[in-house]
Amino acid sequence: MNIERVGVVGAGLMGSGIIEQTARCGFTVVAREVDDRALEGGKKRLQSSMGRALERGKITGAERDEALGRITWTTDLNDLRDCDLVVEAIVENLELKKQLFAALDRLTRPEVILASNTSSVSITALGAATSRPEKVAGAHFFNPVPVMGLVELVRGLLTSDETMDQLRRFGEALNKKVVIARDTPGFIVNLLLVPYLLGAVRAVETNMASVEDIDTAMKLGTGVPMGPLTLLDFVGLDTTLYIADVMYEEFKDPMYAAPPLLRKMVNAGLHGKKNGRGFYDYRDAR
Ligand code: NAD
Repeated sequence: MNIERVGVVGAGLMGSGIIEQTARCGFTVVAREVDDRALEGGKKRLQSSMGRALERGKITGAERDEALGRITWTTDLNDLRDCDLVVEAIVENLELKKQLFAALDRLTRPEVILASNTSSVSITALGAATSRPEKVAGAHFFNPVPVMGLVELVRGLLTSDETMDQLRRFGEALNKKVVIARDTPGFIVNLLLVPYLLGAVRAVETNMASVEDIDTAMKLGTGVPMGPLTLLDFVGLDTTLYIADVMYEEFKDPMYAAPPLLRKMVNAGLHGKKNGRGFYDYRDAR
């Protein structure tokens, strides 16, 4: 099947980026949010992201306008009825995602692929909520979606080769490098990244070095663009804790056990850059 019309459910941090990149790459997009307020939030995020792309010379004004013209915004799930592919990017909650997949299964044509951007929910479990598990897969993008060059495709236990091939072509059409992971918690990137981030939190917890020195050491010592504690602030301490808990629950390996400091910071509302404070203070920059 030729993919032309793509539904994106959820226009939060990730969904708005997926909507933007999909529209910029020539697809028609139907973007769905729960209510008008959330829809407006998604539009604003997308417009400011496109504004930055324009300032940096990544797109022209005409390209931006054409991309915006390809997006239809809606709060009605029924408007996704004619989509050739649906990408789900709603909150990380298994029950809500299962309900949505069941609804999309009833709504869309049987051959339509239903993909999830989840970081930790089992793709096989989402497939089981539908009558088409062979058409259900993961498409795990990275924030900010228009900038980051990777999409991890995740193969559920019953996902077909054809579905993976079609999704690979879609990922490449979005100018992303495609990697394929099995349906295990964390896939490739978080499986390796989360223990590293938790290790950095433990280093702070045990006063091994200052936050700044841990970041500087890892940044300059390993040639990565930012240190682990800055990265944690960008990803979100709450998001990282959630993923670590899912991974620990699955593997029961202490490597994935969240250090008490991380849980305390999340409980105290220090979620990182998105709400102004994490390992660093961003309140003045807001
Ligand atoms: P977010 O909270 O910014 O956005 C979620 C959005 O989903 C909200 O705007 C909410 O209103 C909307 N929503 C909830 N239920 C909905 C429904 N039934 N229909 C339509 N919209 C609905 O979250 P996010 O950070 O964008 O994460 C979304 C997904 O992407 C999660 O599964 C997360 O694990 C995954 N993810 C996140 C990151 C990251 O860095 N934040 C990276 C990769 C993947």
